[in-house]
Amino acid sequence: MNHDFRRALQYFLRACLLKCPECGTKPIFMPIHRIRRLRDYFTPLDGCPRCGYAYERELGYFLLSIWAINYGGGSLLGISIYCYLEYFYHLTLPILLLSVISPVVLFNFLFARHSKAFFIALDHYFDPHVKDGEGGGNGGSNTKEPPAPATPVAPQGAPTPEPGVLV
Ligand SMILES: [Zn+2]
Repeated sequence: MNHDFRRALQYFLRACLLKCPECGTKPIFMPIHRIRRLRDYFTPLDGCPRCGYAYERELGYFLLSIWAINYGGGSLLGISIYCYLEYFYHLTLPILLLSVISPVVLFNFLFARHSKAFFIALDHYFDPHVKDGEGGGNGGSNTKEPPAPATPVAPQGAPTPEPGVLV
């Protein structure tokens, strides 16, 4: 089997299970039984506690996952349901709207976690994180610190030019 295809399939299966795309063992989200607020359901953890893979690389990172994957999937589902009901049944408009919108809202809620997990997997496949060589486990952020600006060092023993003298 092609290596890239195997890697893509591995990331996809890990996303289906809501697991870290890098190590595949730790969850991306807080377990359901520990959720206290609605926000906890939608918000991924900072990073993988095992390998240190940062789930949210930057602010607004998951916008595309929400708009494209979650809302896109919901829209396709709504259009499919509408076409099916319109073709096979002749429902009144209120019943038709209710029949289309209700499952879409439920789908968007239930699919929210998976849409983020799929997005993380896609991003990791096409643009893998750069390891910092420490083997992870640094609290969820494996982005490198920017290097300190190089300060010019005068060679020892070099004569320092006197003020006013052009070198
Ligand atoms: Zn991991």
